[in-house]
Amino acid sequence: MTDPDILIVGGGLHGLSAALHLARAGRRVRVLEARQVGAQASGYSAGGVRTLGRHPAEVPLALEAIERWHDIANLVGDDCGFRPVGQVRVAETEAELAQLAERVERLRAAGWMHEALADAETVRQLLPAVAPHVVGGIVARRDGFASPLRTTRAFGCAAMAAGATVIEGARVATLERRAGLWCLRTHGGETHAAPLLLNAAGAWGGRIARAAGEPIPLGFNAFQMLLTDALPPLLTPVVGAAGRPLSFKQSDSGHVMIGGGHKGQADLDTGEIHLDVPRLAYSARTALDLFPALREARIAHAWAGIEGVTPDELPVIGRSAVADGLVHAFGFSGHGFALAPIVGAIVAGLLLDGPETHALTAFAPDRFTLGGPARETRSALLQPAG
Ligand SMILES: Cc1cc2nc3c(=O)[nH]c(=O)nc-3n(C[C@H](O)[C@H](O)[C@H](O)COP(=O)(O)OP(=O)(O)OC[C@H]3O[C@@H](n4cnc5c(N)ncnc54)[C@H](O)[C@@H]3O)c2cc1C
Repeated sequence: MTDPDILIVGGGLHGLSAALHLARAGRRVRVLEARQVGAQASGYSAGGVRTLGRHPAEVPLALEAIERWHDIANLVGDDCGFRPVGQVRVAETEAELAQLAERVERLRAAGWMHEALADAETVRQLLPAVAPHVVGGIVARRDGFASPLRTTRAFGCAAMAAGATVIEGARVATLERRAGLWCLRTHGGETHAAPLLLNAAGAWGGRIARAAGEPIPLGFNAFQMLLTDALPPLLTPVVGAAGRPLSFKQSDSGHVMIGGGHKGQADLDTGEIHLDVPRLAYSARTALDLFPALREARIAHAWAGIEGVTPDELPVIGRSAVADGLVHAFGFSGHGFALAPIVGAIVAGLLLDGPETHALTAFAPDRFTLGGPARETRSALLQPAG
């Protein structure tokens, strides 16, 4: 193996998207993945591709990402199962609808037109099976969903076709900066060295950052999902709710996937996950409240995936504030799937020492230690997992 220019820790969607962009720019890239490609959040994601309801700091990224999703086959050679069916967030009360209307106004004042307010009739046209108490909602018509594992593998295959090396079963145990190189040792005892390092280790990104001498606070959640048996067509767009956590979609095969941020328990050391059945039942009840036709559905499968969550629920994207040749892209806090096509390009630009092409202050690795820019709360910004 020739010596790489860049090492990437993490073979999830973000590590692989960066690998693809770097390899296409002619760099020798080596991805070290502890398990298999897509073995963590990226493979277990709900795959929602959403500009709807994003934190303002994420809106520019989400809008660029959605354009890339609409051309995803040109980027990775596969359509990733992307379905541009739109996303709708429904309001169950007039107070919720007023909040959504306010949000759309604020976005418009900032020049963003991708979210539109929908009255009850419009929502019913989009979702004929929705419960009668729904009073309206907001819609982003270019949004949709994609197949998570297929997408992650497509990015991995495209990165390898462009010349990147992906090593599975390579869990990084230690790292240090020595003589201008990042020197990584895996639990298996292999060593890897390169001048540049990308930390794309998902929920483990905080550990990699700490090992590099840059403590960045990162919690984690085990977001849970339910899948029903195949059902007759019930809904086309992806559905969320303004007042409670919900993300809800029906695949081409008729299976309905229900998620929305209800958490199980996880152990970061072992990777073990325990489902929380009462919380899963709560997800199912929410879906039933909004789509009574689901009453006859049977749950076929339940799972959870471990995701890194930062204190402000915005990802960490940027150059290290303390170490040379280190860039971070982790902690996507339950909504990073949709952003991967653009974040990989941004991160590649940072590693190639290009000019900063995007406003990244809100994602700065040192924002928690420096106090950071003023942040609005999660509930005010309507940003549930997925
Ligand atoms: C159930 C669920 C539903 C979701 N739904 C949505 C959604 O609808 N829309 C959306 O936009 N987002 C969604 N998300 C979030 C999205 O999936 C994640 O933000 C995204 O996949 C994160 O990708 P990643 O590459 O940062 O992390 P990961 O996919 O977790 O990849 C990190 C990789 O690093 C590896 N790693 C860790 N430590 C080491 C080490 N020491 N050495 C080597 N490798 C290491 C891990 O094995 C892992 O494969 C969801 C997440 C979950 C869990």
